[in-house]
Amino acid sequence: MTVFQQVKKIYLDRKAENSGQVNNLLKKLPNLPVEVVEEVKDIQQEIRLASDPVGESKQLIFLTEQKSFIRPCPCTSGCFGCGYWTLDLDLNCPFDCSYCILQKYLEGQPITLATNREHLRKELEQFFARERTEVIRIGTGELADSLALEELTGNAIFLADIFRNRPGYLLELKSKAASIQTLMSITPVPNLILSWSLNPESVIRSEEKGTASLEERFQSAVAAAKHGYRLGFHFDPIIHYPGWEEDYQSVVLRLFKLIPEEAISWISLGTLRFPPDLPLVARRRFPKSSIYEHEFVRSWDGKFRYPRPLRLRMYESIVEMISQFGSDKKIYLCMESPEVWEVITRKIKKGRHLNTFPFPWEN
Ligand code: SF4
Repeated sequence: MTVFQQVKKIYLDRKAENSGQVNNLLKKLPNLPVEVVEEVKDIQQEIRLASDPVGESKQLIFLTEQKSFIRPCPCTSGCFGCGYWTLDLDLNCPFDCSYCILQKYLEGQPITLATNREHLRKELEQFFARERTEVIRIGTGELADSLALEELTGNAIFLADIFRNRPGYLLELKSKAASIQTLMSITPVPNLILSWSLNPESVIRSEEKGTASLEERFQSAVAAAKHGYRLGFHFDPIIHYPGWEEDYQSVVLRLFKLIPEEAISWISLGTLRFPPDLPLVARRRFPKSSIYEHEFVRSWDGKFRYPRPLRLRMYESIVEMISQFGSDKKIYLCMESPEVWEVITRKIKKGRHLNTFPFPWEN
């Protein structure tokens, strides 16, 4: 069963009825009821009445035109940012992770697919025309999984075509899916980075419902690297539990056993973090999950994190594991404080404190 077979109904925004992508998408989703609506509020009303609104939102697709697509990654206030840009092409995700921030952030939003691709193309052309002094990283994995619905949308190859021959712009497609068939059917794009989130298999099975197994992700990464794509990996969120260190060590060993080091563009690390109201929803939706049964501290940005000494120990341990394979200089931290960055990046750069992104990407 493909992930979009869980969809039970399609809503079509009346304003998007004549949009280019609508027919293509509807053809791939035959035999499903289609209802034309005036605005997303009509669907949200229905979603809120469900016993599990988040679960319900993942079974409904809304086809609409997005007003705009590109924005600087908001990161979180007081964090040491990494200069990322986001491209919000889809909203919401058919997978169901117990730690997923979208459960709160996109409350009541059905899986929303943008149908106005020509608008997106124009916005990207304007983006490319802006003056820039550095390599830009931009990705579609902020409010959705970049590849979960690829068989349905073909967004990845659409974007691959636009980013081809745009050497100063790195497009990242970040995923927990294994579906790379479309991208394997085209000549690889040197500035397209395919990246996977990594966690021990036990965490994937208990916390990342519907996603590909660790081995499936690795096998897709191996195939992508062989085809000529550059890769990224995200240890995010790193979860603390008895035996975590051995489990993450096994993931790191497997990663470098399978993937040639030179194919890796970057590796990010980020420990579990969440806004105060997420556990309320997540505990109800995932009663067997124990990730929230831990000591957390409220951080500078209002989110909860493991206490700083524990986070540092976790980062230092994983950096150490990765440094055995010479990839430590490719590591950066996601949503971390300047204090933690300083300790970790000093270690990586052997004494140099960095004020900018830790490594200069080549064009
Ligand atoms: S794959 Fe990402 S976007 Fe999808 S449910 Fe999991 S954390 Fe959320």
